[in-house]
Amino acid sequence: MTKRLSPLELMQQLVAFPTVSRDTNIPLIDWVADYLASHDIQSHRYVDPEQPKHALFAHVGPWQEGAIVLSGHTDVVPVDGQPWDSDPFEVMEKDGKYFGRGTCDMKGFDALAIWALVEAQHVGVKRPLQIALSFDEEIGCTGAPPMINAMQPVLPKGAAVIVGEPSMMQAVSGHKGGSGFDTHIRGFEVHSSLMDRGVNAIMFGAKLIEWANLTNAANRDAVPGTLAQAFDPPYTTLHVGQISGGTAHNITAKDCYFAMDFRVVPGETKAEWEARYREVVADVEQQMQAIVPETFIQLSERFNVPALSPEDEGEAETLVRSLTGDNASHVVSYATEAGQFQEAGYSAIICGPGDIAQAHQPNEYITKAQFEAGHGFMRRLVERLCT
Ligand SMILES: [Zn+2]
Repeated sequence: MTKRLSPLELMQQLVAFPTVSRDTNIPLIDWVADYLASHDIQSHRYVDPEQPKHALFAHVGPWQEGAIVLSGHTDVVPVDGQPWDSDPFEVMEKDGKYFGRGTCDMKGFDALAIWALVEAQHVGVKRPLQIALSFDEEIGCTGAPPMINAMQPVLPKGAAVIVGEPSMMQAVSGHKGGSGFDTHIRGFEVHSSLMDRGVNAIMFGAKLIEWANLTNAANRDAVPGTLAQAFDPPYTTLHVGQISGGTAHNITAKDCYFAMDFRVVPGETKAEWEARYREVVADVEQQMQAIVPETFIQLSERFNVPALSPEDEGEAETLVRSLTGDNASHVVSYATEAGQFQEAGYSAIICGPGDIAQAHQPNEYITKAQFEAGHGFMRRLVERLCT
């Protein structure tokens, strides 16, 4: 398999692996490793100890620090229940668009990154290039941190990371952080006619949710911080998207479950927000325990993705700006792996082809024009690494 594949051929291969986050991605990683090996590129893996998932990383060029790192995730969101007009796991070209699950988010970029690495190998770059392909991004960015830890002792440390989430090839230098806490309220069941002796888990849970409503309103009315100003909305938001609990309309609910999610603007931290939430939880728990001592509220962290803070004269941003000609400043409100790379000490930026509006949709697509723009970007990047 020494044949060199085009970016489109690479994307067709990657899309054909149905790497929905709940399923394995190992066949895709095996294929990428074999393809790289056929071009004399050695790849390395992070092997998840608990589930059949691998991350892959590789280095091309002089064995020294300072590489540009191209990073993408290999998992995709499910297609269940979505009305697709074509096979989601086959790239279908129509009307100037490539349709298929992951074409936009983000196997299109993964394909371009693999293309660039092989190109860099053949032209013999003077500055190294690395790729890092993760898993479990779509279920809370849980795959990248162990991959980043595994990369560091194996590869020379990279300098700047380009995370190719769809940004229409704009340089996105900031995003909000995200964290979520599964909240379990254990109340005490009695017939609702005796509700003063029971602890209704749903009604006490509602106090926490109302705290979220009041906090959102207060955040909205406050003057935004300097780093927060660029965001829409320019403040931290609290959100409950799912709730369950109770057994019958005339029984005080014994249990209530929901997830409290925080989207935190740069300049504020998850730790501060967690502390505030825990304080309110402790207060509500005290009210419950005054009625029935064995009741409780339990929190468990479901995900935690740090914010990406715009860097002052950051290397990743400077590089991407010079390759794209984009000199405006952009931030987004969705979380990515870029904040995790930044937290691990890399300069990081988001820049990838396609429109985030297409991500996760039925009939997901990337336009040929965006895919071509991504290809042009990679050509210029490899050229730059030769100088
Ligand atoms: Zn993505």
